[in-house]
Amino acid sequence: MGTNDSTPNESNQTREIPIRERLSEYPTTPGVYLMKDKAGEIVYVGKAANLRSRLRSYFARSGGDERFFVHLLDHVLGDIEVVLTRTAKEALLVENELIKTHQPRFNIKLKDDKNFLNLRIGNEHPYPRLEVVRKRRKDGAKYFGPYASASMARQTLRQTNRYFKLRTCRDNDFKNRSRPCLEYQIKRCDAPCVLDVSPESYAENVRQVSLFLDGRGDQLVDHLRERMADAATNMDFEQAATLRDQAKAVEASLQRQAVVMNRMTDLDVFGVGREGPYAAVHVQEVRGGRIKRAQAFKLGKNEAPNDVLLGQFVEQYYLDRTSVPKEVLLSTHTEDMTTLADWLSDRLGSRVQLKVPQRGERRRMVELAEANASSSLKLDQGRQKRQREVLGELQRRLRLTKFPERIECFDISNVQGTDPVASMVVFIDGEPDKSEYRRFHIRTQSTPDDFLMMKETLTRRFKRSLEGNWDIPDLVVIDGGKGQLRMVREVFLDLNVRDVDLVSLAKSRLLEGQSGDDMDRSPERVFVPGVKDPIVLRQNSAPLYLLARLRDEAHRFAITFHRNTRRKRRLTSSLDDIPGIGPGRRNALLRHFGSLKKVKLASADELSQVRGISQAVAQTIFDTFESDRTENNTQ
Ligand code: SF4
Repeated sequence: MGTNDSTPNESNQTREIPIRERLSEYPTTPGVYLMKDKAGEIVYVGKAANLRSRLRSYFARSGGDERFFVHLLDHVLGDIEVVLTRTAKEALLVENELIKTHQPRFNIKLKDDKNFLNLRIGNEHPYPRLEVVRKRRKDGAKYFGPYASASMARQTLRQTNRYFKLRTCRDNDFKNRSRPCLEYQIKRCDAPCVLDVSPESYAENVRQVSLFLDGRGDQLVDHLRERMADAATNMDFEQAATLRDQAKAVEASLQRQAVVMNRMTDLDVFGVGREGPYAAVHVQEVRGGRIKRAQAFKLGKNEAPNDVLLGQFVEQYYLDRTSVPKEVLLSTHTEDMTTLADWLSDRLGSRVQLKVPQRGERRRMVELAEANASSSLKLDQGRQKRQREVLGELQRRLRLTKFPERIECFDISNVQGTDPVASMVVFIDGEPDKSEYRRFHIRTQSTPDDFLMMKETLTRRFKRSLEGNWDIPDLVVIDGGKGQLRMVREVFLDLNVRDVDLVSLAKSRLLEGQSGDDMDRSPERVFVPGVKDPIVLRQNSAPLYLLARLRDEAHRFAITFHRNTRRKRRLTSSLDDIPGIGPGRRNALLRHFGSLKKVKLASADELSQVRGISQAVAQTIFDTFESDRTENNTQ
């Protein structure tokens, strides 16, 4: 039951990753997957043209992925989230950005020189050219991209030069030309190097290139078609044909382009998704034209109309965020958008535009956010369904009287009776609900008696329910064997706790006469009141995995609390023991020096600099820590 800090117990031998069982629920579309550990931290980000088959490859019994961390997944993996993208190339870019943002420990760190290529139009020349560059600089130039591959960047460059008549020569060539080059002969350049080309008309070409590369192709096609009609009306058929070819090229390119997010400097995209009564909002943060974060927020059962739901969500989302972009895209109009936009503008300190895009690239972005929100809900529902099946199986196997919707698990942590604490973790529908977790400082025990400590914890916990403050669990799980189970039953009887199932999970142990090899261990056993022999759940089964996960979570939570308690006590008690030092002076000293260690090493003069510490008190502190300083010096 109780876990001693100095001998932490880990028993992972019966683990199975339930994700294996729900791989078929992942979409077969392109996207990025984020592997999270059991604490929810992102440990790996990857991309795939087909998410489901890529994820399957991690779990293949043979011929699967051979990278080192794949062998660790069984122990590490808690969940996998996905972010859908329109194409595999887009997934590559999103993957790159998410790796940079989260820096997952199993991803190889990307170096700057591995960044993707960009296109640049400088502003230092009246007739600038379009060029491929690796780095974006703050030099006033316009940058486009990043492009998913070098070939894609160069292909875009070729195509742009073909239709928009920007010069391709270097500045030096431009300066020294006496005649136009071949580009002029094949009508791809108006030869501003030697001919009289007005900077304004060239600037118009630059503007069109910007529209094109910024992904505002729809707008550009409209513009080109208008100009084509004008040229035809004016009988300038050659110009009309050129404009027609440009419009066609832009249209074809729009269909091929993987990602052009460059014009969207800083913006957030919100898309609502629904599956039955359940709702989710997917948020993408784009900064400097790159997706920096993509996350789905599940809102549970929520029958509010989308406009109400999204309005409330956006408000909550920005409530404690310092980063508000200039532009916020929404999948639907919300209640009172003007007020919301004004409030966001106040937070940013300049105008924030709140938009519901109807077409173009921005529309596609909100559609993608909506698809992501729905996809996350589908995955969630599949997971919930499976969890309920597991809970049903647990109920059957352990002969529980109730469906274990709310399960609580308790653990004690102490070092030989000092600073004893207890933890209570809560799983609702088979998933941890951290908002329900509780910690207890054990009040009555200073001897290492886990039984009595657990008794106090459960007594205090169930009293809170009797007072009507906390929900009653359906099932209580404790770590231990028959003895612990009997003790908790006594507590239940004392407190008249009824209708709560109770089981204890006994760790696997070495079989008698064995040498300590894992193969020689007994299985984990579950003790149930009124059942003589322990129940042995199938190894690697989902119900056993759930119980072990509960126990380990309670253990982790208790240990963390215990360490913090001990640290705090150490920090405060040695100062508090000094005559003349109360909480005010103690905190002033710690604030001034930053740590107890530095207080101990300080001279009397240094100590007297602290507000509220007189020379006499400083001397007392200095004298008190003399032995600590001597120890420190002799180490
Ligand atoms: S025609 Fe002149 S300006 Fe155009 S690419 Fe050739 S050298 Fe450069």
